[in-house]
Amino acid sequence: MISPSTRELQALDRAHHLHPFTDFKALGEEGSRIVTHAEGVYIHDSEGNRILDGMAGLWCVNLGYGRDELVDAATAQLRELPYYNNFFKTTHPPAVRLAEQLCRLAPAHINRVFFTGSGSEANDTVLRMVRRYWALKGKPEKHIVIARENAYHGSTVAGMSLGGMAPMHGQGGPCVPGIEHIRQPYWFGEGRFSQGRDQSPAAFGRACAQVLEQRIQALGEDNVAAFIAEPVQGAGGAIIPPQSYWPAVKAVLAKYDILLVADEVICGFGRLGEWFGSQYYGLEPDLMSIAKGLSSGYLPIGGVLVGDRVAETLIDEGGEFFHGFTYSGHPACAAVALRNLELMEAENVVARVRDELGPYLARRWAELGEHSIVGEARSLGLIGALELVADKASGERFARTLAAGNLCRDLCFQNGLVMRSVGDTMIISPPLVIRHEQIDELVALARRALDETARRLNTNTTVRETRT
Ligand SMILES: *Cc1c(COP(=O)(O)O)cnc(C)c1O
Repeated sequence: MISPSTRELQALDRAHHLHPFTDFKALGEEGSRIVTHAEGVYIHDSEGNRILDGMAGLWCVNLGYGRDELVDAATAQLRELPYYNNFFKTTHPPAVRLAEQLCRLAPAHINRVFFTGSGSEANDTVLRMVRRYWALKGKPEKHIVIARENAYHGSTVAGMSLGGMAPMHGQGGPCVPGIEHIRQPYWFGEGRFSQGRDQSPAAFGRACAQVLEQRIQALGEDNVAAFIAEPVQGAGGAIIPPQSYWPAVKAVLAKYDILLVADEVICGFGRLGEWFGSQYYGLEPDLMSIAKGLSSGYLPIGGVLVGDRVAETLIDEGGEFFHGFTYSGHPACAAVALRNLELMEAENVVARVRDELGPYLARRWAELGEHSIVGEARSLGLIGALELVADKASGERFARTLAAGNLCRDLCFQNGLVMRSVGDTMIISPPLVIRHEQIDELVALARRALDETARRLNTNTTVRETRT
């Protein structure tokens, strides 16, 4: 029985609140889960359930819930100076100090940051900056940005245009022109059976880089400004590229003098066991988009870290850059982000993900790969995925109509675990402060949900289809 207070909130929610990425009608019929409070790696709902948050909110609550230090940083700053902007020759201490800290943590050739309110705004800023850069270099025709299918770069018009989510492109009118999409390095989904034969991950990674080169040649290198990609694709399904992929991509971009933009909104701030995913893969991006873990999600803030090559051109040759947001570098958000970075350093969070938690998760997570409906279990740092399959040997998927991923996700939630589904790929991205015994709990809860998913689907095994 649902309590009357939950019912009241659900009714108001249904009546007045349009949720992001939601089928409004379907949710209205079902009713929202109402999250009321949280601590550590657990959230609590209005019905008294405690749920292990295997997604760190939306890939962002890296230091976990209930950190008084972050709350104190926000309140102290709100008392001191709740708002002032960075337009018109002004700034304030938190924005300046945060800029300095970010540039200290970023790769050596990155020494400037432009603040935004979110990851989407960061990628809007990227698009304008790379086009502006080439225009200032006397090559305005070098304006096309190449991105990847199934990438996520945000929900503003430029963010969704850069992203490669076909359902998003299909809603709300034409995308921003001058953006092209190429194949993603998704070995399990697209690599294993490409060209009708098994292909090694290494060969597939190189083939994906060749696709980039072919597209550059087709478009003309003089027309291509930049390539944008997440080091590990997050929302697309925790897609970890084969190790051969990034070195080959780097070589192609260098050959044709095309800027590299790393969307670090998820990979940044320790998720892969380095401060930035670019450092894990040895990338030297010209620009990096950041948000999410920058403030552990306590307040909204994002930005673009700008490498010397682009920054110096914008500074020396650009004049005024007509771009910015009311909340670019908001003082309270910047103060929380600054404190978040301090705590991450004091608690050695990044090295612990690299040396202890990541390897431990990898070991425990791999055990789920043995499950009868799991075709692959993969993880890197504290991001992981499970591929649900109807047939382990062939990798044959469940029929789409069974919605196996959604079923598994709902069963996880009922059992006390947030694990997200992207199609039939189950993904996790827990807080970076998760403890070993909490990883054990996460794996046990995931296993229970897989068992239950298998039990329910096996009554239905005649309905299958091959999806490669
Ligand atoms: C979430 C996300 C974004 C968009 O960030 P918002 O703060 O939601 O606008 C952009 N890129 C990646 C990789 C993301 O995961």
